[in-house]
Amino acid sequence: AESWASDSSDSVISSGSDPENHIHKVVMLGENGVGKSSLARIFGGVADNHECDEAGNTYDRSIIVDDEEASIVLYDIWEQDSSPWLQDQCMKMGDAYIIVYSVTDKSSFEKASELRIQLRRARQSEDIPIILVGNKSDLVRSREVSVDEGRACAVVFDCKFIETSASLHHNVRDLFEGIVRQIRLRKDSKED
Ligand code: GDP
Ligand code: MG
Repeated sequence: AESWASDSSDSVISSGSDPENHIHKVVMLGENGVGKSSLARIFGGVADNHECDEAGNTYDRSIIVDDEEASIVLYDIWEQDSSPWLQDQCMKMGDAYIIVYSVTDKSSFEKASELRIQLRRARQSEDIPIILVGNKSDLVRSREVSVDEGRACAVVFDCKFIETSASLHHNVRDLFEGIVRQIRLRKDSKED
């Protein structure tokens, strides 16, 4: 298990001395109950037993990835029953997206595809970093979506893929480091 959430040594807030190091907005999408808030809370360093309101939260954090600091604001504000206005905002505001499904819920996997299509429609000409996340990998016996299905879906949708377990804190750090690397890759290729 990772001790990332409680480790404050890598979470020093940027002094803002590097103007290139602007804040990246990362938005979580996915069906209700797949574990978006659980993953977001780990990122934010909030204790598991901490009560969070259901209205949604944002987490502000700087992390060191490949010896370089990245400032992230993570938005856990998406809900299926949010207003169309808020959903629209979510689709427009992100510099990067984390689309989560549960490996124990086939319909959440199908929903992830819909969200990917919706996102593509909202941001047509843009090449936005997206990571498809199969969460709850610890629930081995109730798995409905295989790793291969997840991976294949990510290939079709031209995005990265990772399986995580928020419960075990498995691959959660890799997920957020991955999103930072994706953001940097796009940025570098634009500067060339
Ligand atoms: P959200 O609606 O997408 O924000 O999902 P939540 O983070 O609120 O999680 C919904 C439920 O799934 C909660 O009871 C969590 O404790 C549980 N959950 C979230 N992630 C995992 C996981 O990786 N493994 C298991 N076993 N349960 C999880
Ligand atoms: Mg939630």
